[in-house]
Amino acid sequence: MTENYDVIIIGTGAGGGTLAHALADSGKNILLLERGDFLPRELDNWDPKPVFVTGKYISKDTWFDRDGKPFQPQVHYVVGGATKMYGAALYRLRPGDFGEIKHVDGISPAWPLTYDDFEPWYSAAERLYQVHGNGGEDPTEGPRSEPYPWPAVSHEPRLQQISDKLAKGRYHPFHAPCGILLNEADRPRSTCIRCATCDGYPCMVHAKADAEVIAVRPLLGRSNVTLLTRAEVTRLQTDDSGRTVTGVVVSRDGNREVYRGDIVVVSAGAANSAKLLLNSATDRHPNGLANGSDQVGRNYMFHNSRAISALSKEPNDTVYQKTLGVNDFYFATKDYEYPMGNVQMVGKSNAEAMRGEKPDLTWFAPEWSLTDVAKHSVDWWLTTEDLPVPENRVTLDKDGNIHLTYSPTNLEEHDRLYEELKKILNHTGMAAHHVFRKNFYADMDIPLAGCAHQAGTCRFGTDPATSVLDTNCMAHELDNLYVVDTSFFPSIGAVNPALTAMANALRVGDHIRQRIT
Ligand SMILES: Cc1cc2nc3c(=O)[nH]c(=O)nc-3n(C[C@H](O)[C@H](O)[C@H](O)COP(=O)(O)OP(=O)(O)OC[C@H]3O[C@@H](n4cnc5c(N)ncnc54)[C@H](O)[C@@H]3O)c2cc1C
Ligand code: SF4
Repeated sequence: MTENYDVIIIGTGAGGGTLAHALADSGKNILLLERGDFLPRELDNWDPKPVFVTGKYISKDTWFDRDGKPFQPQVHYVVGGATKMYGAALYRLRPGDFGEIKHVDGISPAWPLTYDDFEPWYSAAERLYQVHGNGGEDPTEGPRSEPYPWPAVSHEPRLQQISDKLAKGRYHPFHAPCGILLNEADRPRSTCIRCATCDGYPCMVHAKADAEVIAVRPLLGRSNVTLLTRAEVTRLQTDDSGRTVTGVVVSRDGNREVYRGDIVVVSAGAANSAKLLLNSATDRHPNGLANGSDQVGRNYMFHNSRAISALSKEPNDTVYQKTLGVNDFYFATKDYEYPMGNVQMVGKSNAEAMRGEKPDLTWFAPEWSLTDVAKHSVDWWLTTEDLPVPENRVTLDKDGNIHLTYSPTNLEEHDRLYEELKKILNHTGMAAHHVFRKNFYADMDIPLAGCAHQAGTCRFGTDPATSVLDTNCMAHELDNLYVVDTSFFPSIGAVNPALTAMANALRVGDHIRQRIT
């Protein structure tokens, strides 16, 4: 079977789903190919055991690390992609992130575009994804052309207390930008019920601003948009010149299908997009499609992340905890010449998930049960930028399996950030020795498995010798191939990546729309 579309988009996550939304009212025929299915709405959505302990919603894929050791990556093949599980912390990169930054282990390179280039698209993405926030609180934030579309999600009393204590000290706490459909002014009619099972869980009531709910579902009745689920793209075919993608090969329910699109957009997530291009080698593209520069698959990044639970005698009754951020260490400080990163909250600990994590608690609180620990813990998430290193890369073995070679960078900065968090804890009345590392959704014992923030395998740039994509995210070496997931990031900054992928998809969508209409 061969069908022809104006645009084919592969993947329905932050990049692909948002792009489809941007193009839908062009009237052009759009085909969305998604490897997964719709994530079922069921009680398990909000049950920590299936979500964190048995990994019900994680793909069954096996990937391999640099030593050939197999692991199960924490990737999610569903309509909406990783955004179905995400914490919906929708941050803009800081203006400085678009320039060159000196880190302890090297240089984070400049982007070919500036914050000002992205700003209108960030505003548009915040509007689309209904981001709640309060501009101007965080000194590292860039200028905004419009305020957040929704007021910041309020702190619950324990978090307000912590925020007040931080503000009284030398810190600049801010309300974290959240993509949840919460209307605090009208709670009876609010779609979001402000629950404790948000960060890392799918939203059972479809109140999370994820790519399925916000971008894909609203398109389903349209005659010009077709969504095929359980449709895994295995290969892209090109014409004899090698300049045009002519066929998108799909494996669907055991059948091989081929679709044609005037424009083909890959948005399968950083590792899988690289896999697809590498798997599509031809005589014209012997190292993989669009890979004359040998950059496809390289520069894989996914952040240095650490989840920390801190205990105090005071109980923490917070339900929705992800409301606070601190960026005082985001860039170099007077005490340390390198950036350390972002401090934010993570979803509230609960005993059931901790049972899966098996933290070693007995040494500091032998008399406390896991339920006590969960009740008293305040849970933090630390993120430090990792560098785009060419040797950190996705490659394929002869059977097409992903091998991920990764060595961390900037660990000194990350350790420094942890030391700063300990000071924060002391300052806010949580003794720094009452902390423990949580595995939560990024399993720290198998760092590669926690590839939630994967990025960078097809970076964009102006030089075809050192980048895969041009500044419109079109492959330098092809005339109708684009990539719009987090693959395009030349560096990752230290804030969560999804809003940048969404904003970029809107930006690229505008370019594609001009091209096809
Ligand atoms: C638990 C968790 C929490 C997170 N929290 C946050 C957060 O709070 N804030 C934030 O900014 N980011 C967060 N992230 C990261 C964020 O979700 C990702 O950065 C973002 O979704 C990446 O978008 P993408 O388009 O690159 O990939 P994805 O959103 O993963 O989309 C890729 C899509 O492609 C599909 N696909 C893959 N291969 C194929 C193929 N061969 N054929 C067809 N389809 C294919 C996948 O099924 C998927 O739907 C979190 C991620 C996780 C997992
Ligand atoms: S907090 Fe709101 S968006 Fe998040 S899971 Fe609960 S209801 Fe859904």
